[in-house]
Amino acid sequence: KVLPRTYTLTREDAMEMMPPRILRSNKGSYGKVLVIAGSPEISGACYLSAAAAYRMGCGLVKVFTAAENGPVIKNLLPEALVKTYDSELDYTQSLNRFDITKSLQEEIKWATCIVIGPGIGTAEPAGIMLDEVLKEKNKAVVIDADGLNVLAKKETYFVKREDGTRKICLPENVVLTPHLQEMTRLTRFELPVIRAKIVEQALLSLESANCQTLVLKDARTVVTDGGEVYINTIGNNALSTGGTGDVLSGMIAGLLAQGMRPTKAAVLGVCLHGLAAEEYVRRKGGRYSMMAGDLLDMLQEILPK
Ligand code: AMP
Ligand code: MG
Repeated sequence: KVLPRTYTLTREDAMEMMPPRILRSNKGSYGKVLVIAGSPEISGACYLSAAAAYRMGCGLVKVFTAAENGPVIKNLLPEALVKTYDSELDYTQSLNRFDITKSLQEEIKWATCIVIGPGIGTAEPAGIMLDEVLKEKNKAVVIDADGLNVLAKKETYFVKREDGTRKICLPENVVLTPHLQEMTRLTRFELPVIRAKIVEQALLSLESANCQTLVLKDARTVVTDGGEVYINTIGNNALSTGGTGDVLSGMIAGLLAQGMRPTKAAVLGVCLHGLAAEEYVRRKGGRYSMMAGDLLDMLQEILPK
C-alpha cells in the first residue's frame, strides 16, 4: 500500500498560501459565508465563527440563527447580515419544517460556502438544517461542533464495519472539524485509541481518498482527505479554552469563500489559528489568559499586510 504524502507547514509556507487580494476588487470578489449556528442557549459560538470568517478576508457574512440571537449578533457584529428562525415552533410539524427549510434554501443559494454547527444544539431544527445543507454538493460546507453530533446520528453518511466502528462517507465539498470526543461519536472508535494513533485513525475513518476533508483536532491537529496528510505543529495550549474551535470553523470558511479548495483551506486555517495563538503568547506573555475572541484580534497581527 502506498503511504499518503505527509507534511507540516511553517509560517512562511502559510503566508505564501494566502488567497490573493486584488487591487480593483469589491466585496463580491471575496465570497459570501453563511454561518448556520447558535441556539437559544448559545450565541457566542455563532459570533466567533462569523467574526473569524470576516477577519480572514471574505466579502460578506450572513448568520442564520435562532431568533433569540438576532439582537446579540447585530450588536456584536454589525458587519454581518442576520436571518433568524423561530426556535419555539414545533418542528415535528411538517408546515414548520417546510418554512425553515424554504428560508434556509434561499440563504444557501446566496452563499459561496457554508458553516454549520457551532453552538447549534441538537434540537429538531439542527437536524433539519443539516439535511438541507448536505443536499448541496457544489458549495463547500464546514461541519463543526453540534453539527457533527447531529451528523453522527444519521446512518446514511457512514459505512459500518463488523466490529461496530464506522467510516465517514461524504462528498468532497465537505470539511469536518471534530475534536477527539466528536470523532468518537462519528467513528465509534474509543477516544484513547484515536488519541494514541491520530494519523492512522484519521485515515481509517474515511471511506475513500479525495472525498471529504477531515480536520481531527487535538494538540497536534491532523488534516487529511485520505490522500495527503498534514500534521500541525503550530499553536499552543493557550488554545485549550472554550470557543477556539468555533473561531477555526469560521477561519476555514473565510478561506473557502475566497476560492480555496477544501483541503487547502483546512490546512491553512489550522496553521493560521495556531499562529494567532502563538502571537498572543508572544505579545501578552502568557498562556492562561487567552480567550477565543483574542484570536480574532491576533489575526490582524499575523495576516499579510
Ligand atoms: P474545540 O475543542 O472545538 O473548541 O477546538 C479547540 C481548538 O484548539 C482546536 O483547533 C485544537 O486543535 C486547539 N487546541 C486545543 N488545545 C490545544 C493545545 N494544547 N495545543 C495546540 N492546539 C490546541
Ligand atoms: Mg468545538
